[in-house]
Amino acid sequence: MKIAVIGAGAMGSLFGGLLTESGVEVWLLDIWEAHVNTLNQSGLTIEREGITRVVRPNAVTNPQSIGKVDLVIVFVKSTHTAAAAKTAAELVRSDGSVLTLQNGMGNADILSQAVAPGKVLAGTTSHGATLLGPGQIRHAGIGPTRIGPWAAGDPAPAQKVARVLTDAGIETKVTDDVHALIWHKLFINVGINAITALTGIHNGQILDLAATRDLSQKAVEEAMSVARAKGINVEKDVVDHVFQIAEATAANRSSMGQDVDNRRLTEINAINGAVVREARQLGVATPINATLAALVETLESHYGKD
Ligand code: NAD
Repeated sequence: MKIAVIGAGAMGSLFGGLLTESGVEVWLLDIWEAHVNTLNQSGLTIEREGITRVVRPNAVTNPQSIGKVDLVIVFVKSTHTAAAAKTAAELVRSDGSVLTLQNGMGNADILSQAVAPGKVLAGTTSHGATLLGPGQIRHAGIGPTRIGPWAAGDPAPAQKVARVLTDAGIETKVTDDVHALIWHKLFINVGINAITALTGIHNGQILDLAATRDLSQKAVEEAMSVARAKGINVEKDVVDHVFQIAEATAANRSSMGQDVDNRRLTEINAINGAVVREARQLGVATPINATLAALVETLESHYGKD
C-alpha cells in the first residue's frame, strides 16, 4: 500500500514514521519547508520514553512529486482541512481511501465534499505526539485507534486500512458507528480544551474547583443534548469519563491550551463552535459552548495586539 500523509506535524509524522518502519511506502506532505528539509537530510527522529530512533519516510512540500496513492491520511489541524481536502482529492486513486483522525467535528464532511463520500474513512486515535522541532517528535502516548466508513457502505476499505495500521503497531479496530465515536471524542475536547486554553490551567486542574467542574460538566451536557437530538446513541457516563480523562492527563496542557500559549489559531471552530452550529440547526440551546467559543475566538483575534 502506498500512503500519503497530509500534515506531517506531530501526529502525521508519528503515523508516517511508524508506517515507514513497518515497510509501507509513505510520503509525508507538509507546507513547512524547514521540517521537510530536515526530514530529507537527517530523517525523522522519534523520541519515546527517553529513547530516540531515526526513521526515513519520503517527505515533500509539493504533492505533485508523490503520484497517486492508495490511502491519504489527513493530519492537518481542522483550520486547514479544506486546503488538505483539495490535495487529498488529487492524490487518491479511484479505488483508494482518505482517512481523517483529526479532532473535532466537520473534518469528514469537508473531505466528503472534495472526494467521493464513499472514499472517506474517519475515526479517533488515543496515540499522542508532540512536535519538538523540525524533523523531531515525541511519541507521548499509546492507545487504541478506531475507524469506520463516514458514509454508510462497504466496510472492506476500513478493514484493509485497519490491518495496515495494526501491522505498523497502531492497534486499530473498525467500528460500524463512527459518528458516535467522533461525538464521544468531541465530548472530551468540549469538556477540557476551551476551559484550559482560557484559564492557563493543566487538564487535571479542571477538577480542583466545584465551579470549574460545573462549567466543564455543563458544556459536555449541552453537547450531549445536541448529539441526542441528532440521533446519536450517547453513553450514560460521559461526564464521568471526561473527568477521568482530565485526571489521567492531569499534568498535560490540552492541545488548545498549547495553541493559545504559542499564539496559534485553535480548533475551537471544530469543537465548541461545531456544537453551537449543530445546535442552531436542531433548535437546541448551548449558551455555555457559545460563550466558550466566543471567548477563545476573542483571545485568538487579539494575539500580538497586547
Ligand atoms: P500539528 O500542528 O503538529 O501538525 C499539523 C501540520 O499540518 C503542520 O506541520 C502544518 O505545517 C501542516 N499543514 C498545515 N496546512 C497544511 C496543508 N495545507 N498541507 C500540508 N500540510 C499542512 O498538529 P497535530 O498535533 O499533529 O494534530 C493534527 C490533528 O490531530 C489535529 O486535529 C489534532 O487535534 C489531532 N490530534 C492530535 C493529537 C496529538 O497528540 N498531537 C492526538 C490526537 C489527535
